[in-house]
Amino acid sequence: MPCAQPLSLAILTIEPDCASTRRLVAAAKARGHHVDLINTMDCSLHVEGSTLSIEHGGARLPRYDAIIPRIGAAMTSHGCAVVRQLEAIGVPCLASADAILSSRDKRQAHQLFCAAGIPTPKTSFFCVPRDIQDVLTSSGPLPLVIKPLQSSQGYGVEKVETTEDLHRIVDLYIRQQKDFLVQTFIDEAGGRDLRCVVLGDRVVAAITRTAAPGDFRSNLHPGGHAQAAKVSDRERALAQRAASAVGLSFAGVDILRGRDGPVVLEVNSSPGLEGIERATAFDLADQVIRHVESKIAPRACAGTAA
Ligand code: ADP
Ligand code: MG
Repeated sequence: MPCAQPLSLAILTIEPDCASTRRLVAAAKARGHHVDLINTMDCSLHVEGSTLSIEHGGARLPRYDAIIPRIGAAMTSHGCAVVRQLEAIGVPCLASADAILSSRDKRQAHQLFCAAGIPTPKTSFFCVPRDIQDVLTSSGPLPLVIKPLQSSQGYGVEKVETTEDLHRIVDLYIRQQKDFLVQTFIDEAGGRDLRCVVLGDRVVAAITRTAAPGDFRSNLHPGGHAQAAKVSDRERALAQRAASAVGLSFAGVDILRGRDGPVVLEVNSSPGLEGIERATAFDLADQVIRHVESKIAPRACAGTAA
């Protein structure tokens, strides 16, 4: 049943044709809302005296009831600046710029997880090769995992089997002035992870993702496959706390089933919808739009039909 009062919504993305965007557009329309696609790259931000404004494709951005940011790793800096400006102007956003940045930066996210008592694999951040020995002592033994601080979809996530390889890869990161982390390899996860989707304050859907043969990364993009998952109460609570630790009310939380219990790898602020909807037959897009109606733009959507 459509919302009692149609909203004027916009999705902020550089991927207007991707499956997740299309699902959100379809769900918003099915609920009777107007929805625009705003290309993040085409947004220019203007600051004049005490006035902030945003132009999109040369015209002033209309006043939306709510914005759904879909800020991918390729557009983090400008995308978050747009979200921050929208927030400053008073436009309700499904995710705040601070929350997107905290979750995107794996170092900051791990600091927040630690403060919230959320277990993670042992993880080290450093920037000079001489610290490799300390890391081998604290997070070792080999193999270890090394990944860029802003990795996404498994790109750049590597398993390191030898000290020589660790030195070589660390040197490369340092020479390219790229931030990275080194982490204990959770062998017993067996190339599988648990992706929990948190919406509001609960886990609404979950899948296990299994890496392609010969790979340990279970992301769907490099070839992993998804199956609906049963989630324990402990995993459910962990996913909710991890999303809340970085300040997101809609998030995909990646969990590994370790020997000593579940550990959180990361929280994604723009989880893909396609893989989870296909594996679980759960209408996540519809639930996201209902969440926007009731929690992000409740005044604009007063009298929402159930
Ligand atoms: P990304 O942001 O690129 O998805 P993740 O930290 O989620 O980065 O890692 C991608 C995938 O690699 C995970 O889903 C998991 O399958 C595998 N992986 C990452 N870190 C570890 C680890 N420490 N031990 C075992 N597998 C890991
Ligand atoms: Mg991940």
